[in-house]
Amino acid sequence: MGFPESAMMTYMGLYALQHRGQESAGIVASDGKKTREKRGLGLVSDVFGDGTHFEEMKGDAAIGHVRYSTTGSTTFANIQPFLINYKRGQIAGAHNGNLVNGAVLREQMENTGSIFRTTTDTELILHLLARSPKKTTPEAIADALSQVRGAYSMVFLTHRQLIAVRDPRGVRPLCLSQPPGGGVVVASESCAFDLLSLPHGRSLEPGEMFVADRDGTTESFFPFKEVKPAPCIFEFIYFSRPDSRIFEVNVDKIRRRMGHKLAQENPVEADIVISVPDSSNTAALGFANESGIDFEFGLIRNHYVGRTFIQPKQNVRDFGARVKYNPVRGILKNKRVVVVDDSIVRGTTSKKLIDMIREAGASEVHMRVASPPVRFPCFYGIDTPTREQLIASHSSVEDTARFIGADSLGYLSLENMLSIKGLPKTGLCTACFSGEYPIDIDDGCSKKAFE
Ligand code: AMP
Repeated sequence: MGFPESAMMTYMGLYALQHRGQESAGIVASDGKKTREKRGLGLVSDVFGDGTHFEEMKGDAAIGHVRYSTTGSTTFANIQPFLINYKRGQIAGAHNGNLVNGAVLREQMENTGSIFRTTTDTELILHLLARSPKKTTPEAIADALSQVRGAYSMVFLTHRQLIAVRDPRGVRPLCLSQPPGGGVVVASESCAFDLLSLPHGRSLEPGEMFVADRDGTTESFFPFKEVKPAPCIFEFIYFSRPDSRIFEVNVDKIRRRMGHKLAQENPVEADIVISVPDSSNTAALGFANESGIDFEFGLIRNHYVGRTFIQPKQNVRDFGARVKYNPVRGILKNKRVVVVDDSIVRGTTSKKLIDMIREAGASEVHMRVASPPVRFPCFYGIDTPTREQLIASHSSVEDTARFIGADSLGYLSLENMLSIKGLPKTGLCTACFSGEYPIDIDDGCSKKAFE
């Protein structure tokens, strides 16, 4: 808010955040009187490609969203931000995270006559907001959010205000930049600020609601009951970009230290260390550095294959790994190779990669994983499958090593991971590894995932 070309800036920010969602993209802009919106399925470049929309999307305030679905399917109706008209005027909202009582609330509201256009949690929150008797928009948002449980980092836009809010546990990141020349920018990760030459500023605090007004004033509120924060550890492992600073911590630093610890915990004699680009590059460098084994680029990634290519059907997923990665034979031939990946979820990717690395002539393949075994599904916004599909939930480390075809397999233990210097001291959500869910999931929202 507070920039003449807000829609264009939002577009650039979304470009930097493309890794957080590739299903759809959207922007809503306001000039204080009129709202303009543009949304579409696919990548940011598919939706806004030729840039011509920005001339029409006038206004000094805008919000945008890239979607990676955890609740709701990939349809046009589900593209965010949502824009609604209600008793207080117009409001647009966009949500990063996932609610755990969304289905229950939706059913209750449908039973009392509410109709929904979409299957997302965001629309549900806008319904709650519309029903709130509170006078001001920030109060009504707080009222709506006090009825939901789950993970949310959200932005709302009215003709007068930009409102950013994090759930009381601060599960998902949300960063704030207030450049000296004026204006306010919020983004899931600070890498969006770099592209716009904006200062990094700070992380919004768990439970903080930050309100920026068109008149240039800003205010912070803490409308929720204080609880122990639980920022998501998986943001450091996989989700966020290493050049981002989230939860007041540099991702690169933590990811590198994960690689160091992994090497200390699971040493191995080998000739080269390779990463599974790009998500494990930093951890693999940490491993190489600690172990003294040379880092090499043994796998090359095709950058034009997005997640959209990888279909859920298993046989197509397998093919997906081959399209995405190719081994460099000259580097791998007759070498004892350590493959460092950031995580094993289903185990399918590792299996395929190890096959490929052996076919390329490696004499030994040792798998090292810079996180603990993923045993439990995430209900807070990371798209992990049901327990049945999580290999570590039913296979021992030895069985997993056999399944993926590795000569040895070593994970970073939860204890060692949590001992990494620099991680947020307030506590972390480790539910996918420990099964300790900081936000109750006991209302049947996701029982299926435990079957
Ligand atoms: P798999 O074990 O075959 O399910 O896939 C593991 C690979 O997927 C690792 O290389 C990770 O970098 C990547 N990965 C981990 N978590 C996710 C996620 N939530 N969405 C997409 N890819 C992921």
